[in-house]
Amino acid sequence: MMNAKELKKAIEDNVKVLYRKTIDEASKEQVFYALSYAIKDTIIDEWIATHKAYDAQDAKILYYLSMEFLIGRALGNNIINLGARKEVAEVMEELGFDLTDIEDQESDPALGNGGLGRLAACFLDSLATLNYPAYGCGIRYRYGMFKQKIDNGYQKEVPDNWIKNGYPFEIKRSEYSYIVKFGGNVRVENLNGKEKFIHENYGSVRAIPYDMPVLGYENGMVNTLRIWDAEAITNFSLEQFDKGDYQKALEQENLAKTLVEVLYPNDNHYAGKELRLKQQYFFISASLQRALDKFKENHSDIHDLPKKVVFQLNDTHPTVAIPELMRLLLDEEGLSWDDAWKITTECMAYTNHTIMAEALEKWPIDLFKSLLPRVYQIVDEINRRFVEQIRARYPHNFAEKEKNMAILYNGQVRMAYMAIVAGFSVNGVARLHTEILKNQELKDFYEMMPDKFNNKTNGITQRRFLVHANPLLTDWITKKLGTDKFITDLPLLAGLKDYLDDETALAEFMEIKYQNKLRLVKYIKEHNGIDIDPNSIFDVQVKRLHEYKRQLLNILHVMYLYNKLKNDENFDMYPRTFIFGAKAAAGYRRAKQTIKLINSVADVINNDKSIDGKIKVVFIEDYKVSSAEIIFAAADVSEQISTASKEASGTGNMKFMLNGAPTIGTMDGANVEIVEEVGKENAFIFGLSSDEVIAFEKNHNYDPVSIFNNDSEIRTVLMQLVNGFYSPENTEEFREIYDSLLKSHGHDRADTYFILKDFRSYAQAHEDVDKAYRDKKRWAKMALTQTANVGKFSSDRTIEEYVKDIWHLSKLRLDNAK
Ligand SMILES: *Cc1c(COP(=O)(O)O)cnc(C)c1O
Repeated sequence: MMNAKELKKAIEDNVKVLYRKTIDEASKEQVFYALSYAIKDTIIDEWIATHKAYDAQDAKILYYLSMEFLIGRALGNNIINLGARKEVAEVMEELGFDLTDIEDQESDPALGNGGLGRLAACFLDSLATLNYPAYGCGIRYRYGMFKQKIDNGYQKEVPDNWIKNGYPFEIKRSEYSYIVKFGGNVRVENLNGKEKFIHENYGSVRAIPYDMPVLGYENGMVNTLRIWDAEAITNFSLEQFDKGDYQKALEQENLAKTLVEVLYPNDNHYAGKELRLKQQYFFISASLQRALDKFKENHSDIHDLPKKVVFQLNDTHPTVAIPELMRLLLDEEGLSWDDAWKITTECMAYTNHTIMAEALEKWPIDLFKSLLPRVYQIVDEINRRFVEQIRARYPHNFAEKEKNMAILYNGQVRMAYMAIVAGFSVNGVARLHTEILKNQELKDFYEMMPDKFNNKTNGITQRRFLVHANPLLTDWITKKLGTDKFITDLPLLAGLKDYLDDETALAEFMEIKYQNKLRLVKYIKEHNGIDIDPNSIFDVQVKRLHEYKRQLLNILHVMYLYNKLKNDENFDMYPRTFIFGAKAAAGYRRAKQTIKLINSVADVINNDKSIDGKIKVVFIEDYKVSSAEIIFAAADVSEQISTASKEASGTGNMKFMLNGAPTIGTMDGANVEIVEEVGKENAFIFGLSSDEVIAFEKNHNYDPVSIFNNDSEIRTVLMQLVNGFYSPENTEEFREIYDSLLKSHGHDRADTYFILKDFRSYAQAHEDVDKAYRDKKRWAKMALTQTANVGKFSSDRTIEEYVKDIWHLSKLRLDNAK
């Protein structure tokens, strides 16, 4: 890192060179670019040195293949990982700027939807911090996750052109470009008794990588996030075209343009769009071609590939990597099927992120075959061989087992099954989730190949979600522990347990919470124009809008509390601000109706003077990583209320815990393990267990209508959905929500997500929160208990487990490490 004087000069020089301005004339945005380029300069040498060390140490490399990397803003995080937070802030102050203001100029690279993409970003941070050689491989979407505007209570999607003004932390690497081919047909030629497969009449694009640096924390390590852009192939001149070629050139131009245009905004939902499969194959083919070339630069025997390379498939989205690696080994490297299969199966590992049927990718065979004819032939052969294994093992119930496990079945390519068959590891993302995979959803596979299955409970990086998001708390913890080593060793936070009965320390801890609440109050005022009371309980549910996450349960409960305040003079509650933040997939009707409902309820309640401000409801527009950081730090209560068995892990739950917010939640995903760490007396647990949910689903014996008939308070709330109470201008506005709770509809049974079933125990858990919060000392202790016990949920722990059980990487040694 340069010293203060050099940094100052670098910033001033950059402002001059980039904008022909002196620093006092520069806008905040210009200063953001000038500072970012100065920081990038200091990163570059370490980046080069890291990759020299890869080669010198002949390191085994992890390729983390993911359609999404929700990295969030880079500048602040890079400064922290360079260990330069204080110095840079001081320099900015000398120049007359506030570093936080400057950081706010960066648009969030929103190259992901939610948890899955954010997990990938946390993993990259931990890999670099722990000195493991790794590339993230993904797509450079021109438009990331849409920006959300709320217009009259409705979500509106606005394109997010995040690279419009250039992105300072990327480098275009044209020298590593590759051709990716689509469509056409395969011709078989016989060459000296050997079959040769010739792909012809295809369309193609050029894949060009952009590299972003991924810094470890103060260790001199800089890994790479490599995201691929598409360009048309234009190495021929237009005039020479006959008509057919001209047509083809235009098609290639178009394909390149549309290919990386936009991230599909679906979270946990498979839409089956052809362009999505094209995106998958595009970045996978390019990433694999590059990985093989890189391997061959230093190795002569391709059979050694598994010693030096491992690919992790982040969900099924990158599963086409399996037949694509086979294709490269068979057709380009000339290996036999058995050799290629051995290598492929030793290189590929798969992470399962969900058990929900609607999220599982199943491509129609016709579509898959016409888009990827050669790859399909290979899938067909993988399936044929696997089905023979099933037949040999299960001669008596072959048909049933084939139905449950074949990769090709019923006209579909079942991507998860291909990943399980070819991967050497299949992991779930929280203990409960992995158990459900083994005992329910993937039971047949578990029976046939039990050794592949393992659990890796998710984690989050404390560098972003504590050090960057909550500097006050970071400084306080450092003082209390007498060290900042928890920044790379989160279990050290257990040392805070010494202060659980120290009233001064508890008061300081809660004062920091209060300061962070003021910061959020200001953010909400600026972004939403709503005033909220920092002395109220900040009760927060931020995550993607999804029926299984049950924002609807939360808002119905708010409606219930409001009725009680209005109708029951004996009822009292501690002032509470219910804060929501959530994007809904653009085509997800029910989710968008729920956003409208939250905003309609907010309108009525926030404007009712008679309840004396006891309840406020706020919907924070455009939930994203940068706002998340402010929100977690300010939360008093963490809402993790998914229908048990549906949330594979959750990671938002861990970020709240890190920042001292107790959980109100179901025994689902990683909540189970959070409760195990804090003790059940330090969490507010309610609702059906996953076993109970699964049993109801099996037996079809849940009847929400009887709850409606027998519970008048619930009935009143539901009737308010259809009597215009919250939508006087259109009484039908929330009819579909009402119907979804009481009527079955095709395959969807009434109240699919058990909202009415869990309602009463949820309300009870909220009463417990209210009671606990009134006892300030008890609450402070409970809050600090969260932070003190969060150690397990660092992504550093998760990564060490992946390394030990799956990846078998060695730590890179860096001479220039600080
Ligand atoms: C952590 C995070 C998520 C995931 O939240 P869950 O509550 O686990 O679903 C989604 N979006 C953003 C911006 C995040 O930071």
